Amino acid sequence: MGRKLHLEGGKPGFYILRHICHSGSPTGRASNGSARGSWPGVRMGDIFPLFKYIESTLIQATKVSPRVACHQGPCRPGTAQSGNVFVPRKPSSRAAQRGQYLDRVCRVGSAPGGVVMERAVVVIGGGIGGVQASLDLANAGIRVYLVERQPSIGGMMARLDKTFPTNDCSMCILSPKLVEVARHPNIHLLTNSEVRSVAGEAGDFTVSVVRPPRYVDMDKCIACNTCSEKCPTKVPSEFEEGMAPRKAIYVLFPQAVPLKWTIDPEHCLYLTKEKCGICAKVCPADAVNFEDTEEVVQVDASAIVAAPGFAPYDPSALYEFGHGRYPNVITNLEFERMLNASGPTGGHLIRPADGEPPKRIAFLQCVGSRDEKAQRWCSSFCCMAAIKEAIIAKEHAPDLEDIHIYFMDIRAYGKEFEDFYVKAEEEHGIGFTRCRVPGLVEHPKTRDIHLDYVEEGTLEPLSATYDLVVLSTGMSRPEGAEELAEVLGIELAEEGFCATDAATNLRTSRDGVFVCGAFSSPKDIPETVAQASGAAGMAAAVHLRSEERLPAAEAPPLDRDVTGEEPRVGVFVCHCGTNIGGVV
Ligand SMILES: Cc1cc2nc3c(=O)[nH]c(=O)nc-3n(C[C@H](O)[C@H](O)[C@H](O)COP(=O)(O)OP(=O)(O)OC[C@H]3O[C@@H](n4cnc5c(N)ncnc54)[C@H](O)[C@@H]3O)c2cc1C
Ligand code: SF4
Ligand code: SF4
Repeated sequence: MGRKLHLEGGKPGFYILRHICHSGSPTGRASNGSARGSWPGVRMGDIFPLFKYIESTLIQATKVSPRVACHQGPCRPGTAQSGNVFVPRKPSSRAAQRGQYLDRVCRVGSAPGGVVMERAVVVIGGGIGGVQASLDLANAGIRVYLVERQPSIGGMMARLDKTFPTNDCSMCILSPKLVEVARHPNIHLLTNSEVRSVAGEAGDFTVSVVRPPRYVDMDKCIACNTCSEKCPTKVPSEFEEGMAPRKAIYVLFPQAVPLKWTIDPEHCLYLTKEKCGICAKVCPADAVNFEDTEEVVQVDASAIVAAPGFAPYDPSALYEFGHGRYPNVITNLEFERMLNASGPTGGHLIRPADGEPPKRIAFLQCVGSRDEKAQRWCSSFCCMAAIKEAIIAKEHAPDLEDIHIYFMDIRAYGKEFEDFYVKAEEEHGIGFTRCRVPGLVEHPKTRDIHLDYVEEGTLEPLSATYDLVVLSTGMSRPEGAEELAEVLGIELAEEGFCATDAATNLRTSRDGVFVCGAFSSPKDIPETVAQASGAAGMAAAVHLRSEERLPAAEAPPLDRDVTGEEPRVGVFVCHCGTNIGGVV
């Protein structure tokens, strides 16, 4: 095996060391010279000169003094190694002082001629679509960089209470997948991050990911919440649709992955006015770092899967429905948070105007969807979501006098959806009326909501009054869709979702860039998951073609060998909702 080093660029930042090889022999555990890790079974003498060489090359190129570190073994004799190395931006930064390592070295197999190319697939968006695509790729032995804009992965599914048509707890389905992503040795998770540029072609992209400062050291934060308790700055929580506050230093939601706090630079008193700094004083782990700086990560990628999801339609543009003017008119997402036991009302249904429990609730379908004035398309999930929310509301408050869905069509097209619809009417007593409600009026004293309508097949004007009205708002393209499309070099369809080929709906206009989930067109979770696996399969095909000179990468074993250990049985019973909690 030869030893070669190819250093891309020459500026501070993240570098991909593409051509590094060494051979080891199994003579015991040896350190690679860093306090951070070791390669069992490799002689120090084999690899230490290589690291010295890398170090001196980087010092020459960057004029800073990094230390190269790696971990994640074991490495076998005759196998080759490659990896990434981080060079801090500022020589004086704490990262530089301690020779920060940000990526592990990963075994990719022997390569003829001593050349090792470790490529990854980049997945953009950590909602259920991106999470599923990442897991499928990683379980096939392919290295994945999962890039998520928010401080945690999870996307919209993390904000839902239950999911149709089974009404299982959304978080109970999602959470194990999020944890698996975080633990998976083939997945490198970049939260708080966005893709800045993509160069190259299918099979050989260079993807540049920018990670703005988080101001909390992820290695140190122990998730104790002391900082949030003491932080004096409260702002409306985006996760709770503004119905509850969060602090300037916060975690997105209690089951966030990674479970690491972050500082909102727009509202932090220290970062805006150089005042306060309480969080840094009270943090027992010394994790707050106001000197944190932006990082750029360069990824050598064979393919890209775009899964940036959607944005909920903003109904404030439809003045006639009064959202934002009438407190007792809320969106389906606000209602979903209200139903959630960890949401802003602790799972209690209330009228926002007076905090009283509602007795009569109406749902208006297609608000902003199938409407020439707003969005022409059907958002596809909202009929079933309204039926689900109506059933759950009945379970929360069995003495509700009237719960009614006003619709143009009920689109119950998926597996078991029709049964769900029929049960809602026959078993749960949900009322359904086919009509198009033109607008809402608030009673000035009671703050009740009044609506007029004409039922299909009649000419008789009818009216009804409700304590609470839920607008079933649909899906819009995700925030920043145009910028992302420009960076990826892909086309958008007329409505701002991703343009795809007609045959698969997974191929974008750029070879090697695939799409899945709500960004390809509005869709529900089961369809998103199926598409994610499809996109992962297509990305894997490109990846394997690009690596065909190399043996396929092995997925490191996920589980520990427990042979001979005393058996242990864990029983975990979730008590949320009625499916389990109503019985146990
Ligand atoms: C009120 C409501 C109720 C619903 N109920 C149900 C239900 O019961 N059952 C069901 O099947 N479906 C339901 N849905 C639909 C479901 O939420 C979607 O089908 C699902 O979330 C789509 O997943 P996704 O991964 O495509 O997108 P998302 O969940 O939107 O995830 C996208 C992720 O990408 C990130 N992102 C965006 N842009 C970028 C970028 N440029 N760079 C990096 N990251 C980025 C986002 O931060 C987000 O984490 C409901 C939706 C709503 C609004
Ligand atoms: S930043 Fe510090 S105080 Fe805040 S959660 Fe993390 S360890 Fe606790
Ligand atoms: S310095 Fe900023 S984040 Fe820290 S406690 Fe003060 S306002 Fe909150």
